[in-house]
Amino acid sequence: MNEPLFWQRLRQYRDVERSAFLCERWQLRNSLRSAERLYDFIRMEASQALADDFAASLAHNPMQVRLTPYVLALIDWQNAASDPLRRQFIPLASEYVPDHPALALDSLSEHRDSPVPGVVHRYPGKALLLATRSCPVYCRFCTRSYLVGGDTAAVTKAHEVATPNRWQQALTYIRDTPAIEDVVVSGGDAYNLPARHLWPLLEALLNIKHVRRVRVASKALAVLPCALLDECGWSSALIAAQQLAREQRKQFSLQTHFNHAREITWITRLAADALFDRGIRVRNQTVLLRGVNDEPQGLGALLEALVAINVEPYYVYLHDLVPGSETLRTPLSTAIRLEEALRGRTSGYEFPRFVVDLPGGGGKRHVCSFRHYDPGLGVSLFRAPAIDPERRYYHFDPLPAQASHPAALSRLIEAFDNAHPQALAR
Ligand SMILES: *Cc1c(COP(=O)(O)O)cnc(C)c1O
Ligand code: SF4
Repeated sequence: MNEPLFWQRLRQYRDVERSAFLCERWQLRNSLRSAERLYDFIRMEASQALADDFAASLAHNPMQVRLTPYVLALIDWQNAASDPLRRQFIPLASEYVPDHPALALDSLSEHRDSPVPGVVHRYPGKALLLATRSCPVYCRFCTRSYLVGGDTAAVTKAHEVATPNRWQQALTYIRDTPAIEDVVVSGGDAYNLPARHLWPLLEALLNIKHVRRVRVASKALAVLPCALLDECGWSSALIAAQQLAREQRKQFSLQTHFNHAREITWITRLAADALFDRGIRVRNQTVLLRGVNDEPQGLGALLEALVAINVEPYYVYLHDLVPGSETLRTPLSTAIRLEEALRGRTSGYEFPRFVVDLPGGGGKRHVCSFRHYDPGLGVSLFRAPAIDPERRYYHFDPLPAQASHPAALSRLIEAFDNAHPQALAR
């Protein structure tokens, strides 16, 4: 088997043996957890100029720094400025684009749909249980940047998750709401709940009669795959839940988050095989990111690589409005073009749904299901009758680069409504 020791390309990991690099504790102990540590790391692997570029980005970055050696080793440090892995985890001031005027923290209005702390209940039959605020790795573009991780210079976080001592309230709500058949245990990243917390939570959920499907959302397979190689560690909670779900004839699965084919290594394959061998189904959610996966070739390679390790491409999301991340957003037309280019290459059930999570809490809609789209204005109009039959939901493309002053939001909507009166009819 070809198992290159790819991390040894880095100056700082030149002497790290395979046994250490595949050790979860080593990965966690050697994770970078501050901007200062990352600054020094960049200086050593790339250049002083790039380190300064990163330091200058901190005023706008909504996410704390936390990176595993595994992720750091995936970055091509010789070409870090343009590297798609670097772009996802390390912001640079030189690529900063001002936030869109439609941006609101918690742009999906999850707060409004939260009946008790830590539960987001928007769709009748399913709910999110936000069970932790932290992750093993922080993505700079996190959709839940309003609550995930510690405060930064740019963002002070809400504290609304159901931490272990508050789970009872969340579980009681789910128990008392028979319509909820499907629960996603998310956060943050469910990896940051140790097995001794995660397992009792999954067990309690599976033991609720009307809960038929339980999913765990974690990026561990992508950013810390060695965590899944030890069946006595965090994985033990997943294995036990899968076993209980099967006995109950219910569904249990893992949801993960890969954005680029280079995130899939031989270590990922070992980890995915371990899950497959235990009968744990894994689905992937990709976020479309400009300069990372917004070309058919790159996105196609990712989808192929996922299918090859038995991970089902489930969703490709348009990037939500997130502070400091405008540089990564793509217009709706990009998603439509990618779906057109890629559909039909493989089994239909291995092809993802391309969706937009509508600002204002309209939920996920297929990118082609707009009532009207004006690519010139960069505004599209959607309806979401299952959520609110009366309401209009607007989606906003990134503003064109030449717009020196961000257009006022109300004027953008007014221009759209005036130009397309027929689109407003119900
Ligand atoms: C995405 C999401 C879910 C899960 O939705 P699926 O489309 O079934 O994967 C549940 N609740 C909320 C609020 C969500 O955003
Ligand atoms: S792993 Fe998920 S929740 Fe955590 S920072 Fe990344 S996108 Fe956000």
